[in-house]
Amino acid sequence: MVESSLKEATNLLHRHHLKATKPRIKILHYLMTHHDHPTAAMIYDALSNRQPTHRATVYNTLNKLVTAGIVIEIRNGDEAIHYDYFIRPHFHIICTKCGKIADVFYSNSKKIENKMRQEAKKQTGFIPSASHLEIYGICPACQKVNISKYR
Ligand code: ZN
Ligand code: MN
Repeated sequence: MVESSLKEATNLLHRHHLKATKPRIKILHYLMTHHDHPTAAMIYDALSNRQPTHRATVYNTLNKLVTAGIVIEIRNGDEAIHYDYFIRPHFHIICTKCGKIADVFYSNSKKIENKMRQEAKKQTGFIPSASHLEIYGICPACQKVNISKYR
């Protein structure tokens, strides 16, 4: 199981014309199997207790994966950038209390974003190149905290 997804990570790197070095495979595999939007520090901590990995290697690798379009960066309002394996497109809802980032899979969202870009072009004459939709709210855990606080 683990072996086959290590292989998947290797293949994915090759398909994006990236050299499949050991640290790259490990970092990509970590993101393929963890969907909690970790920061670079979290990835470093998780990987370095098995085998020493350099902090700079983690940062450089993440930047390479982002440039290749395999991984995206997400900001939730805290200092750190969060990372997400992004082969299956989705958007995010972010808790404004604790910063939790949750995945939302909704097949219409691409269509809606395309329409928004078309409309932006029509109204402004800009040539749109990208768009990024995010939803903010209060996560279930923070809702519970608030209820008990105000009760
Ligand atoms: Zn929350
Ligand atoms: Mn996500």
